[in-house]
Amino acid sequence: MSERPTKDDACPYEALTPTTVVCPSCGQGTLVPARGRFGPVYKCNAETKPKCKFQLTSRPTGETCQYQRENDRACGALMVEGTKTIPDRCSDRDCPNRNPHKLAPQKTRAA
Ligand SMILES: [Zn+2]
Ligand SMILES: [Zn+2]
Repeated sequence: MSERPTKDDACPYEALTPTTVVCPSCGQGTLVPARGRFGPVYKCNAETKPKCKFQLTSRPTGETCQYQRENDRACGALMVEGTKTIPDRCSDRDCPNRNPHKLAPQKTRAA
């Protein structure tokens, strides 16, 4: 079996290193790079049935979100790596910390 190059090979997910971050959805797999529809994603690798569908579009940092939600509890969702302009942020779309750059002033990290 030879691997035939396809145009999808432009997607560099294979160059990314697997994380040791445990899947918060099933608690069994870890999040590993995979090919996503719009570039690399980090997917749960658990062999569960039905298959765990958890995935993130940014690399998880291994930290959890400490943002205080309305119920006064820390959010607890996985944090993912930010970009040059956006700091590390929450993976939960419903969490205000998803857009930390829009929250009240925070320390800006020098590049
Ligand atoms: Zn999972
Ligand atoms: Zn959060």
